Amino acid sequence: MKISIDDHSGFCFGVTRAIQAAESELEKGSLYCLGDIVHNGQEVARLEMKGLATIDYDDLRTLPAHSRVLLRAHGEPPSTYWIAQQRGIEVIDATCPVVKKLQDRIRACYEAHKNDEAVPPQIVIYGKPGHAEVIGLQGQTNNTAIVIENTHQLDRLDFQRPIYLFSQTTKSVEGFQELVEKILSVYRDNGITESRLEYHDTICRNVANRVAQLQAFAKANDIVFFVGGTKSSNAKVLFNHCKEANERTYFVSSAEEIDDFKFQISNLSNTNPDLKIGICGATSTPLWLMEAVSERLSAF
Ligand code: SF4
Repeated sequence: MKISIDDHSGFCFGVTRAIQAAESELEKGSLYCLGDIVHNGQEVARLEMKGLATIDYDDLRTLPAHSRVLLRAHGEPPSTYWIAQQRGIEVIDATCPVVKKLQDRIRACYEAHKNDEAVPPQIVIYGKPGHAEVIGLQGQTNNTAIVIENTHQLDRLDFQRPIYLFSQTTKSVEGFQELVEKILSVYRDNGITESRLEYHDTICRNVANRVAQLQAFAKANDIVFFVGGTKSSNAKVLFNHCKEANERTYFVSSAEEIDDFKFQISNLSNTNPDLKIGICGATSTPLWLMEAVSERLSAF
């Protein structure tokens, strides 16, 4: 039996940067983080053990002046900075530079078109409603942006008005292309000129480029354990891609969950003594957690 961890799995650059910022700021004193620093409960618990306190928006409004609050890689809407300023809170801004750039582009688009009264534009975000990054992006448009998750929600758009389409950084490239094609086909079917759509593929390549690598890894193994947090949309997307490549791919959030697969692994290794077990994860999955899964498997 051979157990291997995918070289390409684990924290992306934006998450690594936010966690490094938290660890270095914790050395200076108490630190709050607005929302889970990463969508991985085990990593959040590790940092909370070091003193990081996770807070929500209600807590932010009642923190004493001079408290230090870290803003995670997902980014925040302008209202968060405003609240912090009003309360005299020190902000440690760990917004991922890729997200920051996207926020700037959406805000620039909103500012450029918000006064087009004759044909009011629609800024559309392909993303998950309520996701922290999406809330930050909507905030750049004074919350006027329309969020859609799939082509079935296109009836929420007015095709007589210009559409400026952007994407949440962790959505799938295929899903975005499908959306663009569908919008263009609605225009064609209704004799509307296609120039009313301006689209920007703003999907982060740190995620998109992992798909092919993860699928190759999944195919090269007989059974795969995808390690991810249940709150992570990136983990769900990447897990589904792995599952497409290898039907025997299973989602686990902790090393202990591996125990549920003891019987199955034992059966498989009886018929295949060279059984290959792969361990991989999302951009929010810490390496130490994948290593813990590997150690648990080795102990079987
Ligand atoms: S997935 Fe991309 S955009 Fe999101 S935090 Fe990581 S590097 Fe930044």
